[in-house]
Amino acid sequence: MAQRVSVNEAAGSRRTSRVRVAVRLRPYMDKQDDKGEGPCVRGLGPQKLEIINWRNATETLQYQFDVFHGEETTQQAVFLTSVKPILPHILNGQNASVFAYGPTGAGKTHTMLGSQEQPGIIPRAVREVFNLVGAQEKGQDGWEYSIGMSYLEIYNEKVLDLLSPGSQDLPIREDKDRNILIPGLTHTPLSSFSDFDTHFIPASLNRTTASTKLNQRSSRSHAILLIKVVKSQRGPPHRQQTGKLYLVDLAGSEDNRRTGNQGIRLKESGAINLSLFTLSKVVDALNAGAGGRVPYRDSKLTRLLQDSLGGSAHSVMITNIAPEYRYYFDTFSALNFAAKSKQIVNRPFVRETVVAPTIVPGKRSREEQEAGGSGE
Ligand code: ADP
Ligand code: MG
Repeated sequence: MAQRVSVNEAAGSRRTSRVRVAVRLRPYMDKQDDKGEGPCVRGLGPQKLEIINWRNATETLQYQFDVFHGEETTQQAVFLTSVKPILPHILNGQNASVFAYGPTGAGKTHTMLGSQEQPGIIPRAVREVFNLVGAQEKGQDGWEYSIGMSYLEIYNEKVLDLLSPGSQDLPIREDKDRNILIPGLTHTPLSSFSDFDTHFIPASLNRTTASTKLNQRSSRSHAILLIKVVKSQRGPPHRQQTGKLYLVDLAGSEDNRRTGNQGIRLKESGAINLSLFTLSKVVDALNAGAGGRVPYRDSKLTRLLQDSLGGSAHSVMITNIAPEYRYYFDTFSALNFAAKSKQIVNRPFVRETVVAPTIVPGKRSREEQEAGGSGE
């Protein structure tokens, strides 16, 4: 009997790591037809931001995250703070995942992929993995390393191989060691960074440019790059370890919100994009701590990421937001998702209302604001 209790306790206390949540605000992009309203959200230091309260414009709502990247933040700084520190783990047989979340137009692709002039997380991370492996091999640590990539898309709950155009929906399986795999998915060995460019650039351009139809698709599908590092011991007992890094440009978060009636919390709405909706539940469950069921199996995306999100894996979610008013509700909903996942663990997010005079950017007089009251 006693033994059984201790087994249960061990199971209950099994460590699941939480998902680090960063928020990145892109610069205000002035438009001709814009009436000069200015931004509705702004940063308050390295972990906080505030957004005007739509219920009462004399108030702002303040949120706290693990990291806040303001509009001035460079691609390099985002990489150094949020991604670089987790990369050494994949050389030690551990898994990691980095997601860009947020509404279409808020900067997910800029953050993950970037441009020739401003490369994003994907090229920087892949380069760094090659650097790390190079350093290990130079140090003659007794292991041999090989790097490879797969690139896929989840669209309408179908898993499609982006390195093999025209492929059909692929099945997701789990092996006896609980590793998740996709039999039949192209896996391309890479011997250098330029090798990566050669295979990745055409496949990603294929997905992100061209017709409007394709653009719509890119806002509704999840683009998933997998970088795998296999480490083999040169001498006996010839052990082998595999580390996986998933770099994910998620579908636009606005899809979920629009299915809701009042549409503020993801949870309250039905889901057009099942994988994105389930991801939010998985992150909530992981960050709520031990005990609760984590619904990985409820969607393709979360099933695929099961061994690389939570558990012993290292995960970062970068929530991208835009400062213009026309994004207000998408921003609000994205922040509530990101901050909720923050709140459930230890330090609650700060969601306090602040009476206007010192905070609200706007033209109303002090008297007007005070007369407007501070209630909901
Ligand atoms: P998403 O992938 O979320 O739909 P994009 O990455 O395509 O959004 O960004 C929309 C537009 O905003 C693009 O023109 C992009 O270059 C620009 N943009 C996004 N984030 C930034 C940023 N941090 N700095 C400068 N431009 C940005
Ligand atoms: Mg995009």
